[in-house]
Amino acid sequence: MGPPGAGKGTQAQILGALWKIPHISTGEILRACVVAKTALGLKAQAYMDRGELVPDQLLMDIVQERLNEPDANAGWILDGFPRTVTQATFLDKLLHELSGAEGSTSNPKCGLKAVNLDVPDDILVSRLLSRGRQDDNEETIRRRLQVYREQTEPLIDFYSGRQQLVAVDGDRAMELVTAELQQSLSIDS
Ligand code: AMP
Repeated sequence: MGPPGAGKGTQAQILGALWKIPHISTGEILRACVVAKTALGLKAQAYMDRGELVPDQLLMDIVQERLNEPDANAGWILDGFPRTVTQATFLDKLLHELSGAEGSTSNPKCGLKAVNLDVPDDILVSRLLSRGRQDDNEETIRRRLQVYREQTEPLIDFYSGRQQLVAVDGDRAMELVTAELQQSLSIDS
């Protein structure tokens, strides 16, 4: 988790490569559907262009299908999901199903960790404006930040209340953030 521009995609990609597990970005999956003009892409595009969240059910279908693929068997890094409490509750249920009757919470190797990358707003806006993605214009950026505060930030309490939150200062050099994430998320430590 983390607001737009916090570095979620960058860090998720680096860690996925290091740990040889898939980096699953729901934003990237949606953008690919928009480019391919699939039914899902056509539905999602208007929300994305406005900086709104795409409806939960569409995201839950995408994630369910993706986590059932064989390469997701040994772990994954989800980037940009969950973004609402509904999605987080769904993810719990899905993990429970995927891990079988044993449940995932008792086994630290299967346990879920939620990372929050924290970065001040003025830094986020300048990072996003220099990135130049289609939804990175000033009006949409403002809306995405507002949507993040309203709908996604409550997940910080959701996960910290369950001792699943790893909070990291994302306003530092990329390498330092990666090093801290490696340390905090290592299943061997
Ligand atoms: P991202 O690449 O993660 O910044 O996502 C880009 C856009 O895709 C967001 O602004 C949303 O419109 C949409 N999106 C990505 N992930 C989700 C999600 N988990 N729930 C709802 N909308 C999403």
